[in-house]
Formats: sequence, structure tokens, C-alpha cells
Amino acid sequence: MGSAHDQMRAMLDQLMGTGRNGQTSRYQVQYNDPKVCKSFLLYCCPRDILASTRLDIGECKKIHDNALRADFEKAQQKFDHYYDVDATEHLQAFISDSDRKTEVARKRLSETQEKLTAEVAEKENAVYELAEKLGQTLAKAEEFGAQGMVDDSLKLMGEIEDLLKKKSEAIDIYRNSMSVSSYQQQHLRVCDVCTAYLSSQDNNRRLADHFGGKLHLGFMKIREKLSELEKNYEERHEARRKFYEQERYKRDDKRSHRSRIGDRNERNRRSRSRSRHSRHRSRSRSRSRTHKHDRRDRDRRRY
Ligand SMILES: [Zn+2]
Ligand SMILES: [Zn+2]
Repeated sequence: MGSAHDQMRAMLDQLMGTGRNGQTSRYQVQYNDPKVCKSFLLYCCPRDILASTRLDIGECKKIHDNALRADFEKAQQKFDHYYDVDATEHLQAFISDSDRKTEVARKRLSETQEKLTAEVAEKENAVYELAEKLGQTLAKAEEFGAQGMVDDSLKLMGEIEDLLKKKSEAIDIYRNSMSVSSYQQQHLRVCDVCTAYLSSQDNNRRLADHFGGKLHLGFMKIREKLSELEKNYEERHEARRKFYEQERYKRDDKRSHRSRIGDRNERNRRSRSRSRHSRHRSRSRSRSRTHKHDRRDRDRRRY
């Protein structure tokens, strides 16, 4: 997606849907094809959210296409597709996979480095909490700056100064709670949110870069989205089940109606003709006629 031309096309696709240029889709599928990423349709595929981070989660195995999303949005206004149910399950799988990785990394650390006492661990936690607040406030200030909202950006400077002061106090308290030699041994931990390794001795800039960085913030966004989706998951899952059930009833109803008519016709035909053979022939003849008709119809539609 480098050139201006590509960007323009993506924008138009998003706006117009697949009807543009009379094309169905670049991928020859419709928005409701199982090959299309439903999380993408709902703006929450982890692959997109983490796209420009150093974490390589690979390509999403399903199709992402702006035009299909526009089609979906139009269709969703007409009836509920319950795609949030699928998106919830997708994000649950992604997050639980990532939490498993965190657990493995944490276990490895606990085997190789000395465990902190509860008292020291608490002091270390205080350092990280302040670092996290600092990183996020810095990221916000930078974002305001980039958008030309200088006043808002400046307003955060006071907050940042305050956090820096509190953090250096917290580091002093932490350092004083142990011997110099144990402080000199770097104590690592795994970030709960994004699975990266952190050290409380990392300088302010580095920790701030982590907590205000794209990877950590991307994971936060995915986790927030998931907990928002999970609030309604049970209810939506049940509603989807009922919806499918009703659709099935409707279909079965039509089918049994059709077969009742079919039975009646069959009885009539049987009473009209005693010969099995002729019945077969008449049926196959009428079938081939409808086939031909279908084909003609299709051809007409194509031009
Ligand atoms: Zn996807
Ligand atoms: Zn993190």
C-alpha cells in the first residue's frame, strides 16, 4: 500500500463497496464468505492493530478488504449478522495465546533469577506503575503535539514533571530496600499486557517508550476491545443460536410444505399413469427443460 494510487483505491473501496466498477471483489468472494476476517470487518483484527510494531504475528489467514467491509456495513443495517460473536472468539484465542507466552517467559525467569521478597516486589511494582503512567502521558503529549494541539500538549508537561519526580523517589525507595550487590543484578519481568521483557533499571526514556509504544498500546487496545465484546458475549451468542434456529425452522417449513405438495402431485400422477417407466421419463424430460431454462436465464443476466 505504498503509492498514492493504492491509497486512493483503498479509500474509494471503503466508501463505495464492491459495487464499484461492477467488480464483485478482488478476491472473488462476498463479505459473508467464511474466508473473510470478521474481526477486520469490525475494525479489531489483531494483525491490523499490531501491524506497525516489531512483533511479528504474521499475516492474518483470512481476507482483509475495505470494499467487503463497506458491503458488510450496508448489509448489517438491514439485518444483524452477529459477527461480534466470532470476533470475540478470535480475540479470546489471540489473547489467551499471548498470555500463555507470558506464562512461559515468566516461568523461565523465575528459574534463572532470584525471587524478590514480597516487600521488595511491592516497591518494584510502584516503580513500574509510575513508569506506565509516565509512558502513557508522554505518548499522549506527543500525539497532541503531532496534531498541532500545542496547548493540550503543554498542559500535560506539568503532569509529566510530577510523575518523573515521583518515579525517581520510588526508585530510591526500591534501591534502599536491598543491598547494593543485589540491586546491581538486573531484575527482569515480563509485561502482563504485551509479553515484552522489562527491567526496572531501564532508564525513563526506555520504559516510557515501552509503555507509550505501539506494541504495548496495541495490546491494550486489543484487550480493551475484548473485554468490551465479552460483556455481551453470552447474550449475543444465545441470540445468534436462536436466530439460526428460526432460520432453520423457516427453511424446514418451506421444504416440508414443498414436499407435501410434491406428495400430492406424486399421488395424482400415480393414479393417472400405472407405468413406472413413463413416469420416470416424464420427470427427466421436465427436469432437462428447467435446466435449459435456467441456463438461458443466466446467460441473459450476464449481458
Ligand atoms: Zn484478520
Ligand atoms: Zn507492555
